[in-house]
Amino acid sequence: MENAFFRQDCFINGAWIGASGGDTIAVNNPATGEIIGAVPRFGRLETAQAVDAASTAFPLWRAKTADERSEYCGKVYQALMDHQAKLGELLTMEMGKPLAEARGEVAYAAQFFKWFGEEARRIYGDVIPSPWADKRIIVTKEPVGVVASITPWNFPTAMIARKTAAALAAGCPIICKPASQTPFSALAFGVIAEMVGLPKGVLNVVTGSAQEFADEVCKNPAVRKITFTGSTPVGKMLAANAAKYMKRVSMELGGNAPFIVFDDADLDRAVDGAIICKYRNSGQTCVCANRILVQSGIYDEFAERFAAKVAALKVGNGLEGGVEQGPLIDEAGVAKVEEHIGDATAKGAQIITGGKRHEKGGSFFEPTVLRDVTAAMKISSDETFGPVAPLFKFDTEEEAIRMANDTEYGLASYFYTKDLARAWRVMEALEYGMVALNEGIISTPVAPFGGVKESGLGREGSKYGLDDYINIKYGLFGGLE
Ligand code: NAP
Repeated sequence: MENAFFRQDCFINGAWIGASGGDTIAVNNPATGEIIGAVPRFGRLETAQAVDAASTAFPLWRAKTADERSEYCGKVYQALMDHQAKLGELLTMEMGKPLAEARGEVAYAAQFFKWFGEEARRIYGDVIPSPWADKRIIVTKEPVGVVASITPWNFPTAMIARKTAAALAAGCPIICKPASQTPFSALAFGVIAEMVGLPKGVLNVVTGSAQEFADEVCKNPAVRKITFTGSTPVGKMLAANAAKYMKRVSMELGGNAPFIVFDDADLDRAVDGAIICKYRNSGQTCVCANRILVQSGIYDEFAERFAAKVAALKVGNGLEGGVEQGPLIDEAGVAKVEEHIGDATAKGAQIITGGKRHEKGGSFFEPTVLRDVTAAMKISSDETFGPVAPLFKFDTEEEAIRMANDTEYGLASYFYTKDLARAWRVMEALEYGMVALNEGIISTPVAPFGGVKESGLGREGSKYGLDDYINIKYGLFGGLE
């Protein structure tokens, strides 16, 4: 492939390490099925090598001034922006999302380096009023140490950026294990690390067995923190494993986002918000609307207008101009979508647009809208992770809140109303880490991203996003009499 960021080797201790005859993982383009390359299937040994490299780099990296770390982050930001087009192309090729979304993701990822680069200068400590006349109390903040990250395929650049930018700003070296379906956007960070002259060992990318990587980073005492974005079942296993060694963890897990439209909403705005919220990345996002709850007075009109716009979405290879929805990541993704539609229609839901595999074949699926969906259907409790919008009906505000909170997840939620009092009531009543009023897109590097309940622990982005990478040290200065 003609792309300066395309590497098929791992980046460990500032060097490119190939499989050298060992096992590899082939990576395909989900739009064409074509194999675009292969990366090493590394395991415990190579993970341990990366941990050693990061461990050696730690004292040197933490000793950099805040200004120096900030400047490195600024350079990574600039490199991502300067090469946005090439990085976007690589992302689309391995993941399938439309090029415009891929470029947008690169810019979003870059913003994390800008934001955390600025925050690196503001990792303030404290002086606490002492209860003793002869003693003083101070609080300082220190980097936690070597960080290991595991990330999913749906945002291959942004999920790494959120973690890496915060770690580097705080003074922590990092080892990244990307999803095996999308390793190239991760390996591109190795090229960027070289470009900006990051000291060796500060940023490492290891591809291969997730299980072996996880076992090594949990057991290896040099790793002080594990940060994970992915599914809730894997997050739970990882957190349990990390708990055996009392490792700090951050968990960005699955969601089951409600998108509530009240009778008094601006309907055009709600329809447009629902489209972007549901169909961005072909519905393969943890914050995308999984359940659209519409009040009875506007249910039919909403369904009609929404389905008309959904039917007009252009499906195709993300590299082609004007495409708004790419393929799903793989056959398993399509099978889950089909299972949810089959279960819902068997229990009485109606397909009002889409509903089947797209004529383009492969893992392309028609953008779909289902109406008359109820809580008895699988789609109401399970994350679909595909381009299917189920429309539920409710009568009262209390009913909407009860339905919205009736899930073990608590990541993102959305609602549309023009009533100010209702806006406050609903915002406070939704049991979610993030609530958007009259907007269908919620993420920005300056706000805290994260969930409650089984959607995870910790926050990424914002001033709170550094906390997970920092240890608080209490210092007592005595003998001052
Ligand atoms: P996944 O199966 O949990 O995989 C995510 C990552 O975990 C991949 O790197 C995977 O590696 C690795 N992994 C798999 N099995 C593992 C194990 N036993 N131990 C340690 N690591 C393991 O999730 P996915 O299907 O790729 O991603 C979709 C999920 O991520 C959805 O549930 C979505 O909601 C969630 N997500 C959450 C957020 C958020 O911020 N809350 C953001 C994006 C996505 P391999 O690829 O090598 O198997």
